[in-house]
Amino acid sequence: MTQIPKLYGKVFNIQHFSIHDGPGIRTTVFLKGCPLHCKWCHNPESISQKKEIILYEERCIRCGACVEVCTTGAVHRDGDLIVTKREICTACAKCVEVCYAEARNFVGKELSTEDVINEIVKDLVFYDQSGGGVTFSGGEPLLQYDFLTSILKFCKNQNIHTAIDTCGFASPEIIDMISQYTDLFLYDIKIPDTRKHEEFTGVPNKLIHHNLQRLVKLGKEIIVRIPLIPEVNDDVKTIKEIGRLVESMGNIKEIHILPYHSTGKVKYARLGIDYSLKDLELVSQEKLEICKKELSNFVPRVEIE
Ligand code: SF4
Ligand code: SF4
Repeated sequence: MTQIPKLYGKVFNIQHFSIHDGPGIRTTVFLKGCPLHCKWCHNPESISQKKEIILYEERCIRCGACVEVCTTGAVHRDGDLIVTKREICTACAKCVEVCYAEARNFVGKELSTEDVINEIVKDLVFYDQSGGGVTFSGGEPLLQYDFLTSILKFCKNQNIHTAIDTCGFASPEIIDMISQYTDLFLYDIKIPDTRKHEEFTGVPNKLIHHNLQRLVKLGKEIIVRIPLIPEVNDDVKTIKEIGRLVESMGNIKEIHILPYHSTGKVKYARLGIDYSLKDLELVSQEKLEICKKELSNFVPRVEIE
């Protein structure tokens, strides 16, 4: 293995045989932590960089083993219920170790560059056969840019195709550095109006657009991805504005529409996070086709993922 510095990063999943995060068969590495807080996020476990306790209450058999081992008082019985106070949980994991029903677990691990690379190289044969590679997603992978850069350098050295799924909210210097080792950017564009962008994601969009323009000028291959969220950005006016914005960047040939889905809803409850969009409907097929048609006026290729 090429000598690379041993760094540690926060990872919440490594998915093998992924087919939706770039060309061919891929290994997708999900890094934990994101500077945005999109209200519709379907990976709420990716937002915080901290290790978090996740509860599967439907599996709990009320044996009380967790109550007995918890020395901080973060778990207690309340009648028939087992209640966990996350605010005083120290993430010691004692309760997870004794829960044979697997009703409690932790999301997020600290892994070394070597740990991640060992997972990546397991699938080398599939990358070769399918034209695949590795995708770094999140959360926001650029938040852990030192860790990410080390692994990207290794991949480049081994001729492994690399993709980054990013919200683009990072310093231009980080964008420049990372781009040297990245073959493809899957770049999210969410809401063209900056005030509305800030309302729904927690940050304005100027830097995101600036970085996209920068990557275009650097000649990088980019697929713009639009999470299509009902009542937020799925109206024709907004979609046209996004189309115009992408076209104005020059030389972006592909947009993918990511329709909102509600699979993340249950995760919010398991993590004890409030989900403000819980009554949101799914986007209809008809609406998706309209958006696809509108966007086709601005780039040669539009896909619905
Ligand atoms: S140890 Fe697991 S199954 Fe037993 S009460 Fe605690 S959460 Fe429920
Ligand atoms: S992780 Fe430790 S502190 Fe947190 S609930 Fe479990 S036993 Fe208590």
